[in-house]
Amino acid sequence: MKPEFQKYVDDNPALKAVAAGRPILWINDRTPWTEDAGCTVTKEMITDAEKRLQRFAPFIARAFPVVPDGIIESPLREISLMREYLAENGAFDEGRLLIKLDSDLPITGSVKARGGIYEVLKHAEDLAVGAGLLSPEDDYSILCEPRFRDFFGKYAVQVGSTGNLGLSIGIMSAKLGFRVTVHMSHDARQWKKDKLRENGVNVIEYMSDYGKAVEEGRKSSAADPMSYFVDDENSIDLFLGYAVAAGRLKRQLDDAGIVIDAAHPLFIYIPCGVGGAPGGICCGIKHIFGDAAHVFFCEPTECCSMLIGLVTGLNDAVCVQDLGLSGRTEADGLACARPSALAGRIVGPMVAGIATVSDESLYPLMKELCGREKLFIEPSSCACFAGLYQKDGLSAYCREKGLEGSMKDAVHIVWATGGGLVPEDERRRYFNM
Ligand SMILES: *Cc1c(COP(=O)(O)O)cnc(C)c1O
Repeated sequence: MKPEFQKYVDDNPALKAVAAGRPILWINDRTPWTEDAGCTVTKEMITDAEKRLQRFAPFIARAFPVVPDGIIESPLREISLMREYLAENGAFDEGRLLIKLDSDLPITGSVKARGGIYEVLKHAEDLAVGAGLLSPEDDYSILCEPRFRDFFGKYAVQVGSTGNLGLSIGIMSAKLGFRVTVHMSHDARQWKKDKLRENGVNVIEYMSDYGKAVEEGRKSSAADPMSYFVDDENSIDLFLGYAVAAGRLKRQLDDAGIVIDAAHPLFIYIPCGVGGAPGGICCGIKHIFGDAAHVFFCEPTECCSMLIGLVTGLNDAVCVQDLGLSGRTEADGLACARPSALAGRIVGPMVAGIATVSDESLYPLMKELCGREKLFIEPSSCACFAGLYQKDGLSAYCREKGLEGSMKDAVHIVWATGGGLVPEDERRRYFNM
């Protein structure tokens, strides 16, 4: 541990447990957030993002036959058999258990298909409208025409990634005709690099971690006046793309006849890396459901960057190595040692808490989910069960919020963030772990 951080650990039991590598549930005492408290990201901004994705639907439908209606969305499913397993193994067991399958989002098979694809589309629209080639009233399927590919071919898009963000940015940028470079950290899986190269994406590999890949990407993009950098640590557009998930979830709950209100609280658990995806989703959810929603982030014990950023109040001025953690994790999608300051600032007053999980717990969860529910999600994604395993902490939270009486009518949603595109041999390797 860096000596200057010792005082934070001495003062805080949660950080003490974190520094000792123990899985915990940290409860955020800055909540409850209310609409009146204000937020950098407003409802109107999220609605604007929703409308933009609507405009692009005809393009997506034409460019990606796997998305016939042009809306990239995932199913919501009840997982009662998995719920039984969790209950038998000491997890919190009041209320229904559902899973949001962003692991099956079309095109890139991860939650990054929300934020990543949204940001590329927004950038493409800005350029094409700015050049007088496109108007928001047009049918955007014209973007498939060669003249647009030629136009976007003058421009570059770059991004740093542990894998999944690179897949989303790479595939969508290449489809539009951009020159695209993905800077990959050492965590990134080989198949993701292969898939990108098959799609004509330039992949640069680094021996170092995600922070370095982002830094190099930023530098390389800054050196090219025609290049746009998708900044996972600071991007409001990525954040907005993720936030759109909330309104879609609301419609799915409505369609399933599931009511959310003070007497039927909603608990959501989302795996967290740099914080953008869970942050955006959390922000959208709080705008829609307010106090009835309790959003928990889930992080690996060795790489709980958002937790330490929020607990110390230092945001991106602290990284997990500063507290003596390795930053190494099997959960490649969550291997971000330093949190996003943007996400931390926005969700600091909104997130209910953060649960951490050891790498060893991820594989049994992956296997049980597959055995019982016939669902495959990648190990990173299995972190979504971490919150429910913190039964004592979660019970204490419910008591504190006066929710004990309504927990039998609660709805828990674990957010599966990735896995759909993981190749068969890689899945087999995971099952042998
Ligand atoms: C990226 C990712 C996350 C978390 O998103 P961040 O924006 O990095 O917090 C969670 N799960 C998977 C599988 C991911 O790829």
